[in-house]
Order: sequence, then structure tokens, then C-alpha cells
Amino acid sequence: MMSRSQPTKTEILERIEVARKKLGSDLIVLAHFYQMDDIIQSADFIGDSLQLARAASKQKDAHYIVFCSVSFMAEMARIICSPEQIVFHPETKARCPLAEMANIDDVEKAWVALEKTGKRIIPVVYVNSNADLKAFCGKNEGLVCTSANAKKVMEHVFSRNAVPFFFPDENLGRNTAHTMGISDEEMFLWDPYETDGSRNGASMNNAMMFLWRGFCIVHTVILPSHVEAIRRQYKGIKVIVHPECTPDTVNVSDLAGSTSFIKNTVEKSAPGSSWAIGTEINFVNRIRKENPDKLIIPLLGSGCREMAKITPEKLLRVLEYLAEGRAVNPVLVDGTYTEHARLALKRMLEIK
Ligand code: SF4
Repeated sequence: MMSRSQPTKTEILERIEVARKKLGSDLIVLAHFYQMDDIIQSADFIGDSLQLARAASKQKDAHYIVFCSVSFMAEMARIICSPEQIVFHPETKARCPLAEMANIDDVEKAWVALEKTGKRIIPVVYVNSNADLKAFCGKNEGLVCTSANAKKVMEHVFSRNAVPFFFPDENLGRNTAHTMGISDEEMFLWDPYETDGSRNGASMNNAMMFLWRGFCIVHTVILPSHVEAIRRQYKGIKVIVHPECTPDTVNVSDLAGSTSFIKNTVEKSAPGSSWAIGTEINFVNRIRKENPDKLIIPLLGSGCREMAKITPEKLLRVLEYLAEGRAVNPVLVDGTYTEHARLALKRMLEIK
């Protein structure tokens, strides 16, 4: 007996469209900028973490929300959306390694030590984190931030005469602090792998910001030497990078900002401009296609393996089952975290 052949990519994309049409306004598909093009073309809304958080919070009509990204974002949508809505994640194994670099036990241990300084400290968690850490912030007057609003969130903390304790991305924390005039000597780096947590920088008592030792592998491999090499090759090229890159890389670049900042900056630049972009490669390649009047070069072909775990086949599976009235991979968040995690997200969304 002849075995049935696998559907082609075109067939899969066509079947996704059929399922989306069948589900109509009951369904909304959200996708992060770092998703592959085949997913992006099947999404209703594309954005960075902050844009997606806002989009998820505004979905009042859609009964089903399918989130194409890594797990913490699908979890975030589950926390923000109403209990009647069902959030799906096409691949539950797509998990951000940075988000796994802080766990609640280690954060609570650090918190006890930091509180002993007698300072008023407000915890700020990067959106790339699990729900229990967001809940920890919600419970302790804290909030969430993304790379698009990190500075505004830190300013909010300072306006309350408090010191931010930011985790888990050291580079975003450090780069943001530098834009606010805070030097490395005024930051205290908490290292969960050191017995007393200390690493370097300020003494705990003098610190203006507490950071956590965590990083994104996709961005930290983009080095100053890549910037120098591209500048040698393309005279006058502008270099724009994501703030998850190390401060060394950010410091030798022309601009740094979130994916939406990168996208907008490049789009608004004059025809004929040339840009070298330091962030996830799917996103850089898409910007290149969308801006044919400009020269766009990736600083490095660094891709996110976890984002790439969301494939059209997996999206199709969720949608076709849904169209038949069956739920595959609904996202669940431990109810003990929901209320406080929502509070931490809500505080962030209230900051304009
Ligand atoms: S690009 Fe980095 S921070 Fe973003 S999901 Fe991948 S590993 Fe996590």
C-alpha cells in the first residue's frame, strides 16, 4: 500500500487559511517579530512583547487566542485575557532560555539580602520571565517591563524614591541604566551562582540599581568585532542593535532599542540609507525585504532556536483541531500566580 505523502508547505499554509476562515472572528493569531515568515503571514497581529501585551489585553471578542512565540508570552496572554477566552501555544516546548535564568527560590533569596540594606526597593521583572516571578513583582509593589519601555519603567520606580531590582536580563538593565546616567560603579550585580550573591560593581548600600546575572544567547554573541568588521566593509553604515546585546556592543553601535524601535527607525530613514542590524535574524531578513530601497545587513546571522520551534505544521494542528471544536495545547497558569502577575502587567500597561 502506498503511504500518503506529507503535505507541502503551500498546502499547509492553505489549510491554515481555511481553518482561520472557518473560525472567523472567534480566533485571533498573535505572533512575535522573531517568528519565521510562514507564521507571520498567518498572523492577525505581529509585534514586539509590549505591542503583543497590549494587543492581548484588547482582545475582547475573540474566544480563541493562538500565540506564536515562546511560552512566557503565551502565559502572559493567558494572565491578561478574560477567563472565558482560551489561549493556545502551538509548541509548549518553545521556552526562552533567558526566562529560565531566574527562578523564584533564587529571587526570594536575593530579595531577603537586598531588603537588609534598608533601602526602598521595587522589583522589576523583564517580560521574558515565568508567571511566578511576575507574581512576585505584583505582590511587592513591582511591575513588568519590556525592552520597549524599560527606561520608562525604571523612571517610574525612581519617581517613587525607590531603587529598582531588575531581573533576569543583566544587559538590558545595564544598557537602560547607562541611558539614565547611572554608571557601572553604581550598579550591584546579583549572581545567583555566588554564595553571597555578590559579583561586582557598587556595594549593596550604595547601589542605585540591582541587576541579575542573566543573558540572551542570541544577542550576546553579537560582538563589538562584528560592528567593526561591518563598518570596515560598508563605509558610513549605521549600526542599530537590540539592548539585550552587551553594553560593549551597544557602546560601539549608533543606536540601540527594542524591535519596534529598530523597525520604525529603519522604515523612517531616507531611501538609500544603509543599516547593519544586530538582533534575531528572521526579523532582520524581514526588515530587509520590507525596505528594498535601503541596504540592510545583519550584524550576525544569530537565530532564536526556541522561537523557531513554532512551525506552520504546529500552528495548523492547533487551528484544525479548534475548527473541529477540540482544544490542543491550551495554556494554563497556576491560579496562585494569576492575580499578582496580572497586577504587575497591569502596572506596566498603565505607564504611557
Ligand atoms: S531571542 Fe533571546 S530573549 Fe528572545 S526568546 Fe530567544 S533566547 Fe529568549
